Amino acid sequence: MGQFHFTIIDDTDDATLENIKPIYDFLYEKRIFITKTVWVYPPRDKHSKGDSLQSPEYLEFIKDIKKKGYEIGLHNAGSGDYKREEILEGLEEFKRLLGEYPKIQINHSYNKDSIYGGYKRFNWPLRALVKMMYPQYAGVYQGEDPSSDYYWGDVHKRIIRFSRNHTTSLINTANFDKYMPYIDPQRSEYCNYWFSATFAPNPWIFNRIINRHAIDKLEIEKGTCIVFAHLGYFMKDGRINKGFVDAIHYLASKNNCVSMPVSPLLEERIENRKKQGREPTPKIPLLAKAILEIKHLLTRYKYRHLFKLDDYTYKNLNSKMFQ
Ligand SMILES: [Zn+2]
Repeated sequence: MGQFHFTIIDDTDDATLENIKPIYDFLYEKRIFITKTVWVYPPRDKHSKGDSLQSPEYLEFIKDIKKKGYEIGLHNAGSGDYKREEILEGLEEFKRLLGEYPKIQINHSYNKDSIYGGYKRFNWPLRALVKMMYPQYAGVYQGEDPSSDYYWGDVHKRIIRFSRNHTTSLINTANFDKYMPYIDPQRSEYCNYWFSATFAPNPWIFNRIINRHAIDKLEIEKGTCIVFAHLGYFMKDGRINKGFVDAIHYLASKNNCVSMPVSPLLEERIENRKKQGREPTPKIPLLAKAILEIKHLLTRYKYRHLFKLDDYTYKNLNSKMFQ
């Protein structure tokens, strides 16, 4: 059977040296290579907790996994409000500590400096709908607004190569988004190339979507899976989530499973297109973007309101019975 790809974009929320190191030790033992995002500074808002590059032990761990082949991306300079000067300082600090700038950045929940955050991810008419559904976030996201104190879009465009937008409940992310990495003409002023991800933010959803049966399907389709997850949620009472362990074991048992972090995976897709004489980074057509948007909203609706498994419920319920 042909090759298939598996990787994870790990959102750093709640990740501490204590709860995240065992997960990376396990992934390394199984030779599954992914992208870990980091905060340069400690969280300063009430929504989030977790370690940052300012913790010497955590920094050592990040340097160690980087050396082993893991990609380190950015999850904004930190959780909370960071103005332009702090963000630019944060990027320099990232480079000073880790030897290079991040190639990948994913927006963190309510950060004002997020680039095309919230409803700005959508085109008309869904943009208007999302804005109406979440009026409390109107005007919050300003990272790409040159008149804002939270603006850093110009630097983002210069440094960051890949940004994440839409998510799917399919294991085969590339079946959902055939264009990635793509240029979004409506959002190309401050971003370069966009990719999508499979929505598995916590162990409940991960176990539903990434299981042996689904992995077999991914293999048959010779697909590409980029999971979006908060691996900081995957350790409980000193143990890694059982379903996660089983899925990683199963992936590692297949010698046609290719695992590399997100940026090299996307670069490989660009190179393959060049070899095939295709447009290496296509512009996404409006209709294709609209389909991603509709499917994205349906996925979010399903896990928020029908199954009640997303982080809204997960973070509010400190229950062990689902683990
Ligand atoms: Zn986050």
